[in-house]
Amino acid sequence: MPNAVDSLELLKNRLLEIQHLRDAAALLSWDQETYMPAGGGKARANQIALLQTLAHDKFVSSDIENILTQHIDITTGLTNDTTVGLDSASKAFFRETWRDFSRAKKLPSEFVTRLERECSLAQQVWTEARQENDFGKFLPNLQTIIALKHEEVEYLGYTDSPYNTLLDTYEPGATVAQLTPLFATLRKGLVSLLEKIRASPSPPDDSLLHQTYNTDQQLEFGKLVLTKMGYDFTRGRLDLSAHPFTTSFHPTDVRVTTRVFEKDLQSCLFSCIHEGGHGLYDQGLPPAHHGTPLGESLSLGIHESQSRLWENSVGRSRAFWKHFFPLLRERFPTQLKGMTVDTFYSVINAVKPSLIRVEADEVTYNLHIMLRFEIELDVIEKRVEVRDLPELWRTKMKEYLGVVPETEAEGVLQDVHWSFGAFGYFPTYTLGNLYAAMLYQKAKVDIPSLETNIAQGNLILLKDWLNNRIHSHGRKFTSEELIRQTTGQNLSAEPFLQAIRHKMQEIYGLSRQAS
Ligand code: ZN
Repeated sequence: MPNAVDSLELLKNRLLEIQHLRDAAALLSWDQETYMPAGGGKARANQIALLQTLAHDKFVSSDIENILTQHIDITTGLTNDTTVGLDSASKAFFRETWRDFSRAKKLPSEFVTRLERECSLAQQVWTEARQENDFGKFLPNLQTIIALKHEEVEYLGYTDSPYNTLLDTYEPGATVAQLTPLFATLRKGLVSLLEKIRASPSPPDDSLLHQTYNTDQQLEFGKLVLTKMGYDFTRGRLDLSAHPFTTSFHPTDVRVTTRVFEKDLQSCLFSCIHEGGHGLYDQGLPPAHHGTPLGESLSLGIHESQSRLWENSVGRSRAFWKHFFPLLRERFPTQLKGMTVDTFYSVINAVKPSLIRVEADEVTYNLHIMLRFEIELDVIEKRVEVRDLPELWRTKMKEYLGVVPETEAEGVLQDVHWSFGAFGYFPTYTLGNLYAAMLYQKAKVDIPSLETNIAQGNLILLKDWLNNRIHSHGRKFTSEELIRQTTGQNLSAEPFLQAIRHKMQEIYGLSRQAS
């Protein structure tokens, strides 16, 4: 009988080599987003495509297949009798590697090269098209990407909807059938809350956030908050990019980016906290398992739960600002003169339907996601033409948020995702919000002094709780299992709705009954 422990070691070494190639490609992408001159786009697309193709070919090799099939029952995708003596983590290692392998194996190498190259090129064109506010410029690239996504689904196969296959890339196990009722419940709760907020006679005035704030000082404050969160700058760095993101090449090199505007105090601040949440997850993954599923984040939804938990449950809480507001006021004494913690807390939680998703408040954010989810579903199920997307976008914005973009840069061109082929990605943002509320609710139960500690600037208790409960497990469990074992509950919109209603009732003086 093949020895599963030997196979595990052998596979681990092979996967680590493949990971080095992927890490190098990720570093090139990071550079593309931060420092690369615009002229480098074409050359960079070829470099990234080559590394990704090499990684892909190395991964779908017959010797990896031979090792895996000795220990996996290929009809169920679960481990067979050869792994009986192994612990659950090692079994998960085989199971998850097989999941990745059987998926990758279905994609021809030539297709991977084409997809990588087209995505990298499209990203460059999207950047220019957004700057020039010209959807027509991006349209041919977007059509190519969508055709490639249809091709990908053909290779991978699907159940019920081709969209399920794309969704499964980012959120294993999630389906259209699961998301549709979940999102419907959420939408109903949010639309009703939004109506009450709009009717409120005393909305917070957020104009103070749009005075002039020195950008160097904003960045310095962002770094301070990241440090207090436990983000380790000896294993990370903060740079500027058009679209804030986090990338990781190893738990010892996890990089976050932000953007900073003189007339907007929130953008840099909250993107630092948000990306810091992602960064803590990646820095908290076990280095010994780097390159294997046990050293990887579980899903994008779980990843986003980490960023949203820090950004909203913590970063937009009164407890957090009890400690941090005096520090912020020290840096901006003129702008924040006479301002109290309570007023600042109200102002950063103000709800205002707006055009841009990444700047949306907690109440309207998920409506932006639902719009994208529905459009993607229409595109992938071939109910709409790609050229009609700007108009469809405007129609849905009006229906969901009551605002209509005047430019395409503020509408259909605002997000980078479609340019790199990430269809099925957006729903993970809403899942992240829902998971975050569930996790924070449980963290407060597990650590009764949590908010007292946060109010004293001690954020490490929460970081440690997340390290133990979430980060250290890699992909040992499914999202469903991880959430159930951590919170004792199944995924639901209720904890999120409860938290947001509670906050808004207080800030907008809404009656409890009215919720
Ligand atoms: Zn995020």
